[in-house]
Amino acid sequence: MAGYKLPEGYYPNRQLSDDEMWSAFSNLFSSHSKNSSSYKFGFLKAIMDNLYNVDHNLTLTFDQIFATFTEIYWNLVLKHGIRQQPLSERSTGTYLEQALGAASIKYALAADIPFESISDEAKLEVCKKVKSRCKTNVVGALFGDTKGLFYSFSKKEEWLQFNPQMYEFVCKHKLAIEKLNYYEWARYLEKINDGAVMDHLLTKIDKSSERENLSIYRRILFEEFENETCFYCGKKLSNDGKKTHVDHFVPRAFIKDDKMWNLVLACPTCNLQKNDKLAAGIFLDKLVDRNKKIILANDRAKDMRNYSADNLRAVYHWATVNGYESVWQPKKIVVV
Ligand SMILES: [Zn+2]
Repeated sequence: MAGYKLPEGYYPNRQLSDDEMWSAFSNLFSSHSKNSSSYKFGFLKAIMDNLYNVDHNLTLTFDQIFATFTEIYWNLVLKHGIRQQPLSERSTGTYLEQALGAASIKYALAADIPFESISDEAKLEVCKKVKSRCKTNVVGALFGDTKGLFYSFSKKEEWLQFNPQMYEFVCKHKLAIEKLNYYEWARYLEKINDGAVMDHLLTKIDKSSERENLSIYRRILFEEFENETCFYCGKKLSNDGKKTHVDHFVPRAFIKDDKMWNLVLACPTCNLQKNDKLAAGIFLDKLVDRNKKIILANDRAKDMRNYSADNLRAVYHWATVNGYESVWQPKKIVVV
């Protein structure tokens, strides 16, 4: 049976060699893997963006994956106007493009509004529609194209569980696999789009799941967990977006997600100096302690659902393996 038709699939329970694991991705990105739309690339990005949101069994729910998948496509299709499938004479766009368009009409949204700015009600509705339709083909298609090695899945129960060996492999080579994915995705899009929508295409793909407004986190962290001081240098902060920045402890360029366990408040000097560098190990210990406080306050625990100190330390480790060097620290520390 062709991969995309499978109702469920299971990774083999045997030792894989590095060559075999690379060949799963080489196959996906080769010409053997046919694409009638860009969905496989988008689905792989949605999975990679959720790599550190897995539970202790390395499982993601379809709700988690398709929330990111919908956000990626909303921003590429509506905000940037990039087609994801060739337009034939009879076609009025893919189901996904139609579902996104219908939601933007129903909620009277401006054509280029980013996903993060639409109401929770609209987000929920469009994610549900996209999931119910897109899960039919794309989960099995990516499973088949990675030779059944990458994950197990059940469409009925709506979960995807990574093969532990492949999980470690993609953590180790995360940035390389993401770059391959973006390259092949961009090549595919170049065939069916032209004009200004294609300017800065790779940046548009890379940032399609990025949020700009983190003010809700600033408020919560400022009022409850940070003692109103810069996480790095200890300088006094004020509850003001210009003077108090929300910093991704493990850089967002690597982690591709905004979860409370990875967010700290920083003064503009520290935030801008640190930029996309990794902070020194002493701050990792400090963040583990800070996150303990968040977990104790149960009402904020939604973001912490699959968090553990070990996971945070593992993400920090994988970032160093992918080339982030843990060297940055502020020149002057008031209190640490
Ligand atoms: Zn500072």
